[in-house]
Amino acid sequence: MRSVRDFNLNNKKVIIRVDFNVPMKDNKILDDNRIVMSLNTINYAIAHNAKIILMSHLGRIQEEKDKKTNSLKTVSIRLSELLKKDVIFVDETRGKKLENAVNNLKPGEVLLMENTRFEDLPEKLESGNDESLGKYWASLGDIFINDAFGTCHRSHASNVGISKYLPNGIGFLVESELNNLNSILNSPKKPFALILGGAKVKDKIGVIENLISKCDYILIGGGMAYTFLNALGYNIGKSLLDEDSIDFCLNMLKQYKERIILPIDSVVSKELDGEVKTKLNDEFESDDIGLDIGLKTIENFKNILDKTNTVFWNGPLGYSEIDKYSTGTKEILEFLSNTNKTVIIGGGDTASCAINFGYKNSFTHISTGGGASLELLEGKKLPALEAIDK
Ligand code: AMP
Repeated sequence: MRSVRDFNLNNKKVIIRVDFNVPMKDNKILDDNRIVMSLNTINYAIAHNAKIILMSHLGRIQEEKDKKTNSLKTVSIRLSELLKKDVIFVDETRGKKLENAVNNLKPGEVLLMENTRFEDLPEKLESGNDESLGKYWASLGDIFINDAFGTCHRSHASNVGISKYLPNGIGFLVESELNNLNSILNSPKKPFALILGGAKVKDKIGVIENLISKCDYILIGGGMAYTFLNALGYNIGKSLLDEDSIDFCLNMLKQYKERIILPIDSVVSKELDGEVKTKLNDEFESDDIGLDIGLKTIENFKNILDKTNTVFWNGPLGYSEIDKYSTGTKEILEFLSNTNKTVIIGGGDTASCAINFGYKNSFTHISTGGGASLELLEGKKLPALEAIDK
């Protein structure tokens, strides 16, 4: 796939689709990882004298009031600090102000326009990949670079639409995501283990189906483990149950009994803020909720992981937003961080756990895209990458 490296950027208006969809609260950025991860491509374009036009979405814009809490203004300030240079912020997504600002750009200058999803009101022009919007945005630049891995599984005007009308390529972040995730798909150094957690089996079925024949172990924790345990006939009390996926779990357990590793014990409670106990699978009472893997399971997971060379992990192993249910996730992060294995962390909640618990620089790769990395590993084509010239 063509990359930013393959273009002469000198004096060109280069539109870079970045992923600045950072978690925000009260107009403060809670985690700037996605901004940091986009710096390589932006700095490269600055060094090569491009006139840089950045575009990104932030959150969802469903009603007018969402615009107040999802402006990219705050992001432009943080970006300016990280780049150590001015960032011109334009508070519109189309119109004279934006066009003038673009036309006044000098080589090496950086402009960030307002949240692309402001175009989702009154009609979903951005998220619906409106043809004329993609064409309009393309008219602002000379070259389009897609570096927003987190949205590559979506077909929007700011990634798929715009690509049609400009010479295009991918940025360094997308390139690094593809190299790392494709290495899992194509040539994982064996033994290879998949760690899956999170809430629902349903969301992980595609990945299990696509990777089960390639991997040696699938370690299952988090809420999704209880549907597997239910399928085996255990009383799981009030733990998460994904009823539609029970048959899938049974089939997998029949076919791949040796490969699928389930929890032996769990940290349970009667309510989220209640007293906690550790129970074996056959000790659950009817009102127990399994909220984390227990110590025996942690030990077993470590023993198995010890035998592997490659690990891909998607989904926290417990209700990790609450400290007392985050032990399993933390222990496995700590264990893996002290090894030389190839460890790739899927995006979304798992990436947040790795970063927030202090393991930002401890692994081979932490993906910036939850949905996108899962879809890639499911073997699906990502529309925004299909739109890039080969
Ligand atoms: P997912 O988006 O499917 O990866 O799910 C992530 C969510 O699953 C996080 O919010 C976790 O807190 C939640 N989760 C993980 N384990 C459990 C559990 N045992 N019970 C309930 N929720 C869980």
